[in-house]
Amino acid sequence: MKVLKFGGTSVANAESISKVVAIVKEVLQKDKAIVVVSALGGVTDLLLNAASLASAADETYKDTLHQIEHRHLETVKQLIPVAQQSHLLSLVKKSCNEIEDICNGIFLLRELTPRTKDRISSYGELISSQIIAAKFNHEGMSSTWKDARELILTNSLFTAAEVDYPETNQRINDYFGSQISSLFILPGFIASDKNGVTTTLGRGGSDFTAAIVASAIKAGVLEIWTDVSGMMTADPRLTSNARIIPHISYQEAMELSHFGAKVIYPPTIQPVMSLGIPVWIKNTFAPADEGTLIESVSTRNGNIVRGISSINNIVLISLEGSGMIGIPGFSKRLFEALSNEKINVILITQSSSEHSICVGIDAAWAQKAKHAVDTAFVNEIALQKVEPLKIETELSIVALVGENMKSHPGISGRMFSAMGRNGVNIRAIAQGSSEKNISAVIATKDVKKSINVLHEEFFETTYKQVNLFIVGTGNVGKKLFGQLQQQLEFLQRQMKLVVNVVGICNSRKMLIDENGIQLSQWEKRVADGDHASIQQFIHEIIERNLRNSIFVDITASDQVAAVYEQLLKKSISVVACNKVAASSAYNNYKRLKDIASEFNCHFLFETNVGAGLPVIATLNDLLNSGDRIHRIQAVLSGTLNFVFNNYDGKRKFADVVKQAQDEGYTEPDPRLDLSGTDVMRKIMILAREAGEKIEMDEIRNNSFMPASCMKGTVEDFYSAMSKEEEHFRKIFEKANSEGCKLKFVASFNEGKASVGLQHIDPQHDLYHLYGKDNVVLFYTDRYKEQPMVVKGAGAGAEVTASGVFADILRAVKI
Ligand code: ADP
Ligand code: ASP
Ligand code: MG
Repeated sequence: MKVLKFGGTSVANAESISKVVAIVKEVLQKDKAIVVVSALGGVTDLLLNAASLASAADETYKDTLHQIEHRHLETVKQLIPVAQQSHLLSLVKKSCNEIEDICNGIFLLRELTPRTKDRISSYGELISSQIIAAKFNHEGMSSTWKDARELILTNSLFTAAEVDYPETNQRINDYFGSQISSLFILPGFIASDKNGVTTTLGRGGSDFTAAIVASAIKAGVLEIWTDVSGMMTADPRLTSNARIIPHISYQEAMELSHFGAKVIYPPTIQPVMSLGIPVWIKNTFAPADEGTLIESVSTRNGNIVRGISSINNIVLISLEGSGMIGIPGFSKRLFEALSNEKINVILITQSSSEHSICVGIDAAWAQKAKHAVDTAFVNEIALQKVEPLKIETELSIVALVGENMKSHPGISGRMFSAMGRNGVNIRAIAQGSSEKNISAVIATKDVKKSINVLHEEFFETTYKQVNLFIVGTGNVGKKLFGQLQQQLEFLQRQMKLVVNVVGICNSRKMLIDENGIQLSQWEKRVADGDHASIQQFIHEIIERNLRNSIFVDITASDQVAAVYEQLLKKSISVVACNKVAASSAYNNYKRLKDIASEFNCHFLFETNVGAGLPVIATLNDLLNSGDRIHRIQAVLSGTLNFVFNNYDGKRKFADVVKQAQDEGYTEPDPRLDLSGTDVMRKIMILAREAGEKIEMDEIRNNSFMPASCMKGTVEDFYSAMSKEEEHFRKIFEKANSEGCKLKFVASFNEGKASVGLQHIDPQHDLYHLYGKDNVVLFYTDRYKEQPMVVKGAGAGAEVTASGVFADILRAVKI
């Protein structure tokens, strides 16, 4: 004999009920079947809503009752031919009249007891099961309907009644032993107490009904038919990465469901587990899919973590006080107080100092728990040995489940660091001594992010998603979009990385799309976006709370640099092409770096020096591996190198500068390059990264620019330069006559930094430097005589974008 249970979505309407009929028909070809059904999907909620509206004196409960009646009548009409409908239609009408009478009573009394709730909600299964039984009969599958209240005996703990197994098993065996039918239909969820009063087994309890019946008759198999193709690695509504678990042990399934995997009601497993009855989770809408098999052996292969689940509406209650230390019996009294009130404890942690006990319970019980515990400890509270019970709300639990976790150290470390990197604050932790689960209490707003992060961390075949928020769509921004677009497929295939550009903002418009902005269409999409506001953009990034968020600043704006701190404090990494922050006051630079390390994220600005060249990365590698920097000598301005490589005293100096600007090498205001200020910023950033506390005004600048060129607008600058041609020619000719080249050199030497134009002779390392190239020479303990050299194009949109891209990938790796 097989026991099959069909859930609410499987019997939601005539169409899905027809699928149920087809599945059962197939079973009957080989076997007998007991079919347990839920109420039509959503009906239990509607019934309980109507009752609670009535108890709140809200007459709209009548509308809800109409809705309930209409749902059932429509289902009957679509399912059964007109000639055979009348019996069912009158059954629905009669039941709905009774429901209305009860609701009218609730309305008049303004009282809704758990007992009445059970009475009301029982109608859902009572009606659905009779409709389905009639449909079977109509299809020629002769079925016997049986009221489960006559079979399942419980205590009178209404809404979550506890089963009297000996009596229930007896009744079930007596009944099925005396019948010859090969198909039985039973309403799930409902039972009765010893006085014959209707009780229910708790929300989602139809699964449990099926398991009780299966274990009583020692069925060969229990099948739970639902709307997903099995138990999944996580709730599919929270992560699109979730996938089916083909095999799972009873223990693991129990843990997962206990910690929120709604696909199976937690008490369901217990009765079938003790008899080793296999349970299949199958999809009514895709019956050919394999589904999940729950059985006693856990397969050793497969993932260490079997699944991840979460429960919302948790409160953390804590009992604290110095009077608790070393005195036995406190926890006993706490748990007694809770258990007397039938408050279910979901998670417990106790600090090793015994100074506090912390318990996670359902939020619905919070006030009851406070009252019970404060009453139990009234004397200790008066003597200030214990503080009144503390309650923290809006919390959830996320749990990792897997029997193999016990033989793999480091799982909790990985769990907490993955969450930590994403700014998820963990309020309490519990790990069962069997190590089948590790659970953490976190803020409810962080649940979706955590489930996704943990799924990416523990299920290797899934992709890690990175969410980018990019500000600035100028030359470099455009190139970056192009490079990202070109690499998307590679990153997904080779690095298992899905790069999602979620937000783009420029000085005019901004756009956020959590599904990712198609990079081929970014221009149009951003143009159709909202009016730009950097504060609003930041607000959205923080509010959306997406995992692996990275903020990318490709502007030169002070305003944008000012928001980094807000983001880093939310563990959102910042990749800055913008030099403002790293070259601002030392304290600001240092604070941002410290915040990034405190909040477990990155503040990266490789492109601040040498565009795409790995200058800062190389410096950090040297330092991190224990080397010490003595001296840095560098040509760091692509613009100045281009200008002095191309200026030969014949073409006008101003024209060469203009060409550099036209080719996109200069800062938006070329004076920043020509004055040496940009080079000062760069050598300062390198000095700081080498550990020096240094400010701009401590850097000597031997400027070659006449003061007359540095006033007014950019146009004034060009015309003043034209007038000073003689000055530039002299500088060139002097160097040329010595056989030297002009290089604007930045140096950092044992704590002191300077920049200025120098004559470089052909033997010097800096001599052979062409076009817009940069070069950096690091003299260190290990590179004493011959420096470590980083050399190559140091300006240009394409290479700068590639440097930003590299920083993004560094930020991902963490
Ligand atoms: P039924 O009405 O068939 O009893 P439920 O709604 O009670 O169905 O349970 C099925 C739902 O459980 C799925 O639609 C899915 O959204 C949710 N769910 C939550 N966690 C999981 C999980 N780990 N695996 C599968 N489904 C899950
Ligand atoms: N109909 C009940 C509920 O919605 C029981 C079930 O569907 O399992 O909770
Ligand atoms: Mg269910």
